[in-house]
Amino acid sequence: MKVTPIIGLEVHVELRTQSKMFCSCSATHFHVEANTNTCPVCLGLPGALPVPNSTACEWCIKLGIALGCTPNLTSFFERKNYFYPDLAKGYQLTQFEKPFVVNGKLVIDGQEIRINRAHMEEDTGKSIHLTTSGQDLTLIDYNRCGVPLVEIVSEPDITSAQMAKNYLLKIQQIIRYLGISDADIEKGSMRCEPTINLKIETDDGQTVYTPLAEIKNVASLTGVQIAIDFELNRQLEEFKQTGETKSKTNKTTRGWDADKNQTFLQREKEGSSDYRYFPEPDIPYINFTQAEIDAIKASIPELPDQKIEKYKTVYGLSDYDAQTITADFSFANIYESIIIDYIYKNKVNDLTKIVGKSLKDLVGFTDSAKVKDFAKFTANLFLGAIKTHLNETGEDLDQSKINSQFFFDLFTAVSNSEISATVAKQVIIESYQTGEHPVEIAKSKGLIQVSDSGEIEKIATEVITNNPKAVEDYKKNPMSIGFLIGQLMKASRGSANPVIAKNILEKLLK
Ligand SMILES: [Zn+2]
Repeated sequence: MKVTPIIGLEVHVELRTQSKMFCSCSATHFHVEANTNTCPVCLGLPGALPVPNSTACEWCIKLGIALGCTPNLTSFFERKNYFYPDLAKGYQLTQFEKPFVVNGKLVIDGQEIRINRAHMEEDTGKSIHLTTSGQDLTLIDYNRCGVPLVEIVSEPDITSAQMAKNYLLKIQQIIRYLGISDADIEKGSMRCEPTINLKIETDDGQTVYTPLAEIKNVASLTGVQIAIDFELNRQLEEFKQTGETKSKTNKTTRGWDADKNQTFLQREKEGSSDYRYFPEPDIPYINFTQAEIDAIKASIPELPDQKIEKYKTVYGLSDYDAQTITADFSFANIYESIIIDYIYKNKVNDLTKIVGKSLKDLVGFTDSAKVKDFAKFTANLFLGAIKTHLNETGEDLDQSKINSQFFFDLFTAVSNSEISATVAKQVIIESYQTGEHPVEIAKSKGLIQVSDSGEIEKIATEVITNNPKAVEDYKKNPMSIGFLIGQLMKASRGSANPVIAKNILEKLLK
């Protein structure tokens, strides 16, 4: 029996526009007194007229283009009819026939995941369930009702829970690069509903599919991965025990219980026809010219994959380092601002001419070894020292505490063997915290390396005189020189350049 998981993801992203999707109420709904950001439009009162938020429409197209989609020059909004208490008007405004963007793709773990569409819609209000004086109550907060929401629908091309998580991480990263949402799954500004089933090729040559299940209410990235794995196993077990297939049951909706780590049956799903979609009569068709689409395209910043490619080819970083630095947009930008300052300051080759230009323009300038050395040195400090410090303290990187000149001087000191790489990591953190110059910190702490052979030779002679036993050992086994180097470093209080120290010891012991 061969079992293949088939996973598709619907991802909802709340846009951080100032106002809501179809009215001028503030779109802020976290930590706001309930039902204060509402008006007749978002409460769905009779006669109220919706007016689309143009920024939200443009951001939806921008996101779609970043996901490789093609924009529809003409699109429109439709009513998706269903009743739920947190959706006061009895229908949601969304796009069905003609979404803003269609047919994109993302490459995840070397595999292409097709994106069917990204469309614009509005969020619902929030139901708050509580028990007071032994009575169950449901309160409704309409502050979130009408907040702009983009839905990104993938084709069922995802084949594992890990791939689903990586797909979400990539979408989250792109959204944060675009600056259109904080895309925080834990806070609910990004939500994900996986639809899952299994393709089963039985030993007697038949191919069957298990019933589709859509999982709701998964509120963390790790949760998505665990929920998908749980559901894949559950479906396989159910098939083995009952032989239940898609031909008998089409689709069910299952909830996710994060405490028990299991899915549970909620309801049999309505088909899309149950929603009786029809065009919203109060909003005209929305038309974009090609020039307008081109302008939106031009406003898209360098995206993670392009940045990774540049970091590897122009800055000479390893794939791992490039991936790690670009994982966070502002971290990458602060790192890169130092490299660009360095390029400007040193006018290395013609690089000054191409700063801020596209990757295509940069590729011709990859020969600069100096830029690569500095970029690698700075990457090591960012990933080895600064990131560790930030992880320990839980802080975000503060650009105001970063001084390019400090990195240049530290690089020069390390290149001249005045400061060791280990000391550089130590002093850059102290410098980050205090604002003092890292080389000055190294000087004041006696951490400047002595590369002066005369001085090291003096110490080496003392070490040899004081350690006759170790000298005997060395003559039998040259590998044991480590002990003598250690003694020399100790005598110099860590300031001797270890490479020079080793050379001098070897010379004296010949
Ligand atoms: Zn409103």
